Order: sequence, then C-alpha cells, then structure tokens
Amino acid sequence: MSSEFKLIRKYFARPAPGAALGVGDDAALLRPGAGLELAVSTDLLLEGRHFRAGAEPRALGHKALAVNLSDMAAMGAAPRWALLAISLPSADEPWLAAFAEGFFALAARFGVELVGGDTTRGPLSVCVTILGEVPTGRALLRSGAAPGDDVWVSGELGGAALALSRPDIAAAAQRLAQPEPRVALGTRLRGVASAAIDVSDGFAQDLGHILESSGVGATVEYECMPKCAAFGELGDRKLESRCVLSGGDDYELVFTAPRDRRAALEQLAGELGLALARVGAIEKGNARLRIVDRNRKPMRVARGFDHFAP
Ligand code: ADP
Ligand code: MG
Repeated sequence: MSSEFKLIRKYFARPAPGAALGVGDDAALLRPGAGLELAVSTDLLLEGRHFRAGAEPRALGHKALAVNLSDMAAMGAAPRWALLAISLPSADEPWLAAFAEGFFALAARFGVELVGGDTTRGPLSVCVTILGEVPTGRALLRSGAAPGDDVWVSGELGGAALALSRPDIAAAAQRLAQPEPRVALGTRLRGVASAAIDVSDGFAQDLGHILESSGVGATVEYECMPKCAAFGELGDRKLESRCVLSGGDDYELVFTAPRDRRAALEQLAGELGLALARVGAIEKGNARLRIVDRNRKPMRVARGFDHFAP
C-alpha cells in the first residue's frame, strides 16, 4: 500500500543541489544569486477545464510545468525552482510515474528543481508554482511598450486552438498537449524588448494587456502573423484567423522592441533557430488594437479566453 509520504518520496523527491533545502521539510530554503530578483508565478490546471478527463499523464506533467516556464520566459527570467501541488482521485502509480516522467524530463531540460509541493486526494488538479531569477530591474514587463516600437511574435500561432476542432492534425495536437516554452528567447530579450507577454489566452487579448499596461495602441498586419503550417492545407480562412488571433494555449512570446533592434532580433532568431516575425507597430493614444488585412481593412477579432466572461 502506498501512503502519501511514500508516493511523494517515490515520485517527487529528487535531489535539488541548487536549493539550500529541497523536498522533505516543512518548507524549502532558496537563495537567489547576488544582484538577482526572484520572479514567482503560479498556474492551476483543472481536469475538465484546462485538460479533458483521461488526458495522457506524461503530456500533462509536461504541460503543467511548460505553462509556468512560459511565464518565466515572458518576464525574461531564468527558471530555477518549482513547487507542485497536486490532488488525485486515487494513488494510481502508473499514472503518477508517467506524470512525473513528463514533468521531470522538461524540468531537466531547463535546469529546474522541484523543491516542494503538496499531495492530496481529490478531483484531479495540478498547480505548479515556479521561481526564477532575473538581474535586478531588468525583468520584461507588460508596461514598457512605446510609440514607434515594433510588435514581434515568436514561432507560430493558432496550432493549439486548431487542435480543439481538428485533433486529427498531429502538429496541432502536439502544440496543445506539449507546448514548448520560449525560455531561451525570454532571457535573450532582456535589454532588447521593451515589453513582453506569453500567448496563453489568444494573441489579440494578450497583446491587449501590453497595450493597456503601456497606455499605447497598435496596428498589426494579419498577413505578417506567423500561422501554424497546417492552415495552409486547410484553406479555411475563417477558422485560421480565429485560431491565430484569438486562440489560446500557444505559449509563444509577443513582445515589443524599438526599431533599432531589428537587426539584433533577426540575428537572435538565427542563433536560437526560432522564427521571429515582425507583425505591426505601437502607436500613440488609447489602448486600441487594430488588426488589418492585406487591403489594410480592419478585421473583426473575437475575444480571447476569459474564465468569467459574461
Ligand atoms: P506539510 O504537512 O508540511 O504540508 P507534507 O507532508 O505535505 O508537508 O509534505 C512533505 C514534504 O513533501 C514537503 O517538503 C513538501 O514540500 C513535499 N511535497 C509534498 N507533495 C509534493 C509534491 N507533489 N511534489 C513535491 N514535493 C512535495
Ligand atoms: Mg502538505
């Protein structure tokens, strides 16, 4: 029989040499490096809300950490430590083993150590808290966009949302189940980007947060938006624009940067092997986002995801 403590020891207690004290006491002890600020963020994934019942546990372990790593990327922080609060209907050991495998495989890639958490019985939910480091005063905030800055997007958008209507398209399904957080890009954008956010609720809504925080507007050209390759063959422009502009869960970075950073960003894209698309410009005035088609006609944009939308 597995007790709570045996399960924790077996599946979640791992050495954490980068922490003063990891799993096993009443709290972990962490020491941020000299001259660094701690960036702290948390994300809750609930069965039936953020993932469907019966979701593959390895992918869920990956995604629970990935969405938090994405928040670190959007702040320009280097992820260091994580906490995992999980509630489970039962002590299903094959499930736990697969979940832990997905979680730790991604953690190892980014040098993140699991230093604590909580384990209880209940409806399936997974809450990860992440801590990262960023040189004092150099975090990428939502509030730094200035008129004249370019708007940039990493990778491609719309794939995760496409998977909701077309789970048969493998590339889209992969985007939804196992997103790739843009951690290396985030840290390299320090001192380059003026503002940044990750696309969790949809491009238009998330860029809208930058506009509101910065007190600026923007015009974005739809033709310049990077789109999941699968849309090319589908030939459904309506589905495409809805997924690309308003679909969530892509975990790409949207950021702004002064125009004199264009060459640096093109070089960075080459170095990282990650496409960076320049899609529009920041403008003076109220926080209005205009998205225009190839004839410069404004497009209608659906709202992004909102848990409490009326
Ligand atoms: P407490 O009673 O103080 O909440 P617990 O018995 O819940 O402590 O946890 C014992 C230790 O195991 C703590 O260090 C806690 O951080 C860690 N822990 C519990 N659940 C997890 C988990 N799912 N992942 C990582 N560490 C965990
Ligand atoms: Mg506890």
